[in-house]
Amino acid sequence: MIKHISDRVGVMYLGNLVELTKSDELYKNPIHPYTRALLSAIPIPDPKEEREKKRIPIDGEIPSSINPIPGCKFASRCSIVKDICRTQIPSLVEVNTGHFVACHQIKS
Ligand code: SF4
Repeated sequence: MIKHISDRVGVMYLGNLVELTKSDELYKNPIHPYTRALLSAIPIPDPKEEREKKRIPIDGEIPSSINPIPGCKFASRCSIVKDICRTQIPSLVEVNTGHFVACHQIKS
């Protein structure tokens, strides 16, 4: 639904904007690990495609919003987490024209 009614989409995790881009670009080329996992969970109305689709699971604990963890809020659940993620909040940077991502692993 969002894909069809929106020009641009922002993805948030625990109150932080983690990815922002045009709707078409987000669905074609999701970059942030949380966005990729979210989109992989969307059911496909074709049974064959749905069976073959690779879902990206999100493991780990959701951090407390009352007592937030330092660094990236997704660090406790991210499959590609690095040491820097646990101490520094990633900035939202433009990785492609009009496509912004907040992740230490993504280079602009
Ligand atoms: S900054 Fe680190 S923990 Fe956060 S999404 Fe990127 S790789 Fe994962």
